[in-house]
Amino acid sequence: MYNVNEKGYYGEFGGAYIPEMLYPNVEELRKNYVSILQEPSFQEEFHSLLKDYVGRPTPLYFAKRFSEKYNTKVYLKREDLCHTGAHKVNNTIGQILMAKRLGKSRIIAETGAGQHGVATATVCALMGLECIVYMGAIDIERQAPNVARMKMLGATVVPANSGSKTLKDATNEAIRDWINHPTNTHYIIGSVVGPHPYPDMVARFQSVISEEISTQLSEKENRTAPDYVVACVGGGSNAAGAYYHFLDHPAVGIIAVEAAGQGVNSGKSAATSALGNIGIIHGSKTLLMQTADGQITEPYSISAGLDYPGVGPMHAHLFTSGRGEFISVTDKDAMQAGISLSKLEGIIPAIETSHALAIFENRKFKPDDVVVVNLSGRGDKDLNTYIKHFNL
Ligand SMILES: *Cc1c(COP(=O)(O)O)cnc(C)c1O
Repeated sequence: MYNVNEKGYYGEFGGAYIPEMLYPNVEELRKNYVSILQEPSFQEEFHSLLKDYVGRPTPLYFAKRFSEKYNTKVYLKREDLCHTGAHKVNNTIGQILMAKRLGKSRIIAETGAGQHGVATATVCALMGLECIVYMGAIDIERQAPNVARMKMLGATVVPANSGSKTLKDATNEAIRDWINHPTNTHYIIGSVVGPHPYPDMVARFQSVISEEISTQLSEKENRTAPDYVVACVGGGSNAAGAYYHFLDHPAVGIIAVEAAGQGVNSGKSAATSALGNIGIIHGSKTLLMQTADGQITEPYSISAGLDYPGVGPMHAHLFTSGRGEFISVTDKDAMQAGISLSKLEGIIPAIETSHALAIFENRKFKPDDVVVVNLSGRGDKDLNTYIKHFNL
């Protein structure tokens, strides 16, 4: 009911709104992705790389001191311990195997802060495939360490010099490239966004997260589902993975945490569910932040990974149907939660993840509720932002 239908829609959201020139590429993927995914040899290779290369299963850790502070039972799903430091690699591993099965030799990707670019460059190195990453010229300046990582991994980083020289311009360049290379190239999209089948395909690759949560909870709590599962939402891939196997269990509360930036009504925010309305972005009908005449509004968040003007169609549907509870958290509250988890548990979270951790200040749970928070990434990449914010 909350999953994609055969036409590629979650309720009224999703679909594939693409230029005709891109149709053959997307159609080839749409026709083949489910059967490839279900091949035993694909599953075997995917899971063996997740185990030996990514380091899965990631632990489900009972955060004792954090739980005591908020008087409820909090488990952290440790995606921060994945190779490369976040959940993104689950998807890029899946997609590069898909690209190989489709006979592609060249990989393209877009990246904003560089995290998805690094995850893509990583798997291209692993498989020995050519990798071209489009990145806004301004982002290239702002994110020098990730640009260096991609180069070390053998990728070519191509600056996007049009428009605002950020993520959406990089995406336009990547789409243009794909149109010009329809036969040998696969486009690895980094979240549950884009035209069908991307949102569903990426959600399936990330669904290993909720599959493991279920198994791990049966060992630790003698039950297969939590009372709540909490995740931050940029495009929505770590959240989609954490929710996936619980979507159709109405007893499991689904909590999505968005970036309020400097405040939902400050003009500097990325809280799409609160500020967005229906429109088309990156080939998909979903909720997005836009002006009255349909121009995309520039989003803002202190965390690069949540700084996106839309949400994936699954999340748009979870929001409008009422299945998901959406909470937005300001920069300031997120930063505080980041330092709080560091001191309570010895885990420095990514600032994206800190948003999810911040809800416990105001959203109260019962003492015996089992609440799983998806710890989407580690904070090493954010050290400079933490240093500046707290004068460390
Ligand atoms: C990229 C990123 C996010 C946001 O992306 P989603 O697709 O919404 O998961 C969240 N956390 C971390 C650590 C990230 O790197």
